[in-house]
Amino acid sequence: MKINYAKQHISEEDIQAVVEVLKSDYITQGLTSQQFEQAVCSVVGSQHAISTNSGTSALHLACLALKLSKDDILWTSPISFVASANCALYCQASVDFVDIDPLTINLSIPQLEIKLKHAKQHQSLPKVLVVVHMSGLSNDMQAIYELSQEYGFAIIEDASHALGGDYQQSAIGNCQYSDMTVFSFHPIKSITTGEGGMVVCNNPQLAQELTLLRSHGITRDSDLMTHAPDGDWCYQQLKLGYNYRMSDINAALGLSQLKRLNTFIDKRRQIAADYNTGLADCPILTPHPDAVKASACHLYIIILNESHHACRDDLFRYLQDLEIMVNIHYIPIHTQPFYRDMGFKIGDFPRAEAYYQRCISLPIHYALTDENLTFIINSIKIFFKT
Ligand SMILES: *Cc1c(COP(=O)(O)O)cnc(C)c1O
Repeated sequence: MKINYAKQHISEEDIQAVVEVLKSDYITQGLTSQQFEQAVCSVVGSQHAISTNSGTSALHLACLALKLSKDDILWTSPISFVASANCALYCQASVDFVDIDPLTINLSIPQLEIKLKHAKQHQSLPKVLVVVHMSGLSNDMQAIYELSQEYGFAIIEDASHALGGDYQQSAIGNCQYSDMTVFSFHPIKSITTGEGGMVVCNNPQLAQELTLLRSHGITRDSDLMTHAPDGDWCYQQLKLGYNYRMSDINAALGLSQLKRLNTFIDKRRQIAADYNTGLADCPILTPHPDAVKASACHLYIIILNESHHACRDDLFRYLQDLEIMVNIHYIPIHTQPFYRDMGFKIGDFPRAEAYYQRCISLPIHYALTDENLTFIINSIKIFFKT
């Protein structure tokens, strides 16, 4: 019996919600996507939400709304999904990375500060920093915000892993210390819409820009039109936008799933706490208990001790052979062939590269049973002979 590392959980109620939209007059751009946006705003405590057809398009829109363009620089973490960096390239900007803190797997704030000092001297400061909340654990946003004030860069939180997580006792996504926060609703994330994403923010100008760019750069709002409208039918294209809209079919699933967000996150945190207890005697680093309490626990990552780093690949194969579908998050972005062609090389971000050699993501999702969990924990203990 195969144990997936991640899996969506779809209820009868979710299915009914989608069916209702399918039977209604509008299957896209009706009221449901707006209701979903409002519901996410109230869950995360933000003023505005703009739903999109993926987390990747949400990142692209966020960069565009900040006017990221040619000659600009975006920094992010090398340990993330490639989309966190690709969004800069869609805007013809360039990308660079900030090495990680091996304990949190988030980008390191001391490293960020060193790199900012250096960049200031060389007039190569970033315009945008994409802060990835790796595995659902928030970075220290207050500290990053303070650096942004000193060095003048904008902040996008890539919270694709982190819907349902907390920072300073508040929901991730309230944008207290950032310009915008991006979520993904891919099936493996906290909640799903099939494919989908969202940008949340508190700034009405940014929200307006995001809304415009999401839909071809077209507006039907006469207040925004730059020329006298021809008539009531008139719409005007004010800039070059995209079709990045979420359909109401997807939004109905998201709206229904959102009701179970807390249930999903509680279960994930429980699984993570059980792994921590069960694996306590293994030669591995597990997430800090405080991290488990605040994180959305999107991934449960173990890091093999230095003394055992050579057996990571063996452990990976051993668990896969037992049909425990473990995974590796992530191959450092700068080592991808496409990024190497841009001049990045092995050795550029040594902490990220060392982490990559020693990490494994264990299965974590809502439908994981106690039986599955015991089997996974026991199998790992047998591997390490503990
Ligand atoms: C999933 C993910 C994305 C992209 O989201 P999609 O909805 O798949 O486009 C971006 N960043 C991170 C960190 C992710 O995990």
